[in-house]
Amino acid sequence: MLRLLRYFSPYKRLLLLAVVSNLLMSLFLVVSIPVLQPFLQLLFDVPDKTAGGATVLKEATGIRAVEQAISGYFADLVRTQGREQALLWVCGLLVFTFLGKNLFRYLSLYFLAPVRNGVVRDLRNRLVAKILELPLSYFSEARKGDLISRASADVQEVDSSIIGVVESVAREPIVILGSLAFMLYVSPTLLGFAMLLMLFSGLVIGRLGLALRRQSKDAQGNLGVVLALLEETLGGLRIIKGFNAQRWQLARYERENTRYAALLTRINRRRDLASPLSEFLGIVAVATILWFGARQVFSGQMTAPTFITFLYAFYNIIEPAKHLSAASYSIRKGLGALERVEALLAEPVSIRDQEGAQSVQAFERAIEFRGVSFQYPNAEAPALKGIDLVIPKGKIIALVGASGAGKSTLADLLPRFYDVVEGSILLDGVDIRRLRLRDLRALMGIVSQEAILFNDTVRNNIAFGLEDASDADIEAAARAAHAHEFIIALPQGYDTNIGERGTKLSGGQRQRLTIARALLRNPPILILDEATSALDSESEKIVQAALHRLLKNRTALVIAHRLSTVQHADEIVVLDRGQIVERGRHDSLMQQSGIYRNLVALQAL
Ligand code: ADP
Repeated sequence: MLRLLRYFSPYKRLLLLAVVSNLLMSLFLVVSIPVLQPFLQLLFDVPDKTAGGATVLKEATGIRAVEQAISGYFADLVRTQGREQALLWVCGLLVFTFLGKNLFRYLSLYFLAPVRNGVVRDLRNRLVAKILELPLSYFSEARKGDLISRASADVQEVDSSIIGVVESVAREPIVILGSLAFMLYVSPTLLGFAMLLMLFSGLVIGRLGLALRRQSKDAQGNLGVVLALLEETLGGLRIIKGFNAQRWQLARYERENTRYAALLTRINRRRDLASPLSEFLGIVAVATILWFGARQVFSGQMTAPTFITFLYAFYNIIEPAKHLSAASYSIRKGLGALERVEALLAEPVSIRDQEGAQSVQAFERAIEFRGVSFQYPNAEAPALKGIDLVIPKGKIIALVGASGAGKSTLADLLPRFYDVVEGSILLDGVDIRRLRLRDLRALMGIVSQEAILFNDTVRNNIAFGLEDASDADIEAAARAAHAHEFIIALPQGYDTNIGERGTKLSGGQRQRLTIARALLRNPPILILDEATSALDSESEKIVQAALHRLLKNRTALVIAHRLSTVQHADEIVVLDRGQIVERGRHDSLMQQSGIYRNLVALQAL
């Protein structure tokens, strides 16, 4: 619970207000208990004496003094103003105490609302910050669903337990203690009896809650799977439809979703059992107390008003006790959820700046891969083996090879999306793991195969995090990427929102925007994953021209799919199953009858 409280620290003031409101609220509720007794005495016209004859009091407690004062006051009222008038007073007082109680109940919720939402907001912000920090290797399709489930359902869970914390910390104990004190004062035996009954029902309900918690943990995990499938469906819509695989994908989704629903049904049934069960146990307790207490009244050990007030106090305990147990349940559930969220927040960031990382501002001579091997954490075989490769400044190196040969993996090692497993990558002679990550990545521009665009304006998609980019710079970059013409033809020019993932643009336009983005940054090193998707020859020509401009005077590592790029490269590196099998310029490679010539022959078909 302390762990949960830590998240409240920025909201101390609001929280304090909420707690104070809660205290006041319970105060009003507790006060209403002794008020009831004179009311009943009035009604039944019992002569003025506070407690029943046999309820012998050991010491005069504070409550007793208060109650005597109240009773005395009402007796006076009856004497001076008559029964009717006194009745009116008591009823008025009852209304007033409940007005106070509910007013403060609302106030406490009023102060609590920004606290809950603030804590949840902070948690979500931290989660996304963490996601942005974690290495790419952390994420897989299954993890994505799990992440979404944590960021939505689990955080929500924490939210609902917050309410429980505040209630259980401030409100309920006071109400319970107040009522208990009153009951103890009225009749210790009756109270002992009532406690025993409550204990029994508490145990029964508690067992139920335990089972519930286990199941709801399973449910959270299952929700992650369902969400992962949903995300996969959304991401693969084009392929799913294209391959007429709707039914297949739907069946996959339905299977998991049905399992989730079945689990939820079991949880619901169990949870729904709690309320009828506790009501029944409650009435059993009340009936027993009624039987026990009424007998005391019959035998003259207690007056009827005292007994009824006792029942009222008991009733006042039931609700808070229920709340308290519900709150403790929801707190435990919330803590479970918080654990899942915190586990993610505590995930080690394997790719980060080393102690005393060097700053680097410029690229002077060469990048060198020295005996580099790499294996994905969950893979059986290495994706790259013993790669030796030098990329001198100003040269263009093309990577070719069949799909799965390791081209993207090799390119991903350069900006440290992954770290090498063996060997090292040197930038101007310094191991890139010893450079500041931010500096290293600032030296590189990345143009990926799928043009990755964001649901924002054209301008922001080009500037993309470069806050000091002027409009003139952006336009110049767009011109250089042959994108300016189509941008100004858009309804709002550079301010046009391009829709989710740039769906409002054509493939060629999307690529030119990403090229403009790289041009604006003007990085010395370029990592280019050429698009494989075919463009019509007109766009192809424009994109090629833009790429040509982008590559000029730059050092580039190009995952090449097009012959035209390959022919211009200073060196072509042919990868096969993670190893370099051929290297050289186009002409010399064509003279060997190796993999490269085969690839070219295939393309020429
Ligand atoms: P290419 O870009 O040449 O098509 P990749 O570099 O994408 O090849 O893949 C090289 C090898 O690494 C392949 O065998 C592929 O299955 C494997 N691989 C790629 N990404 C991952 C990953 N995230 N986890 C495990 N294995 C991967």
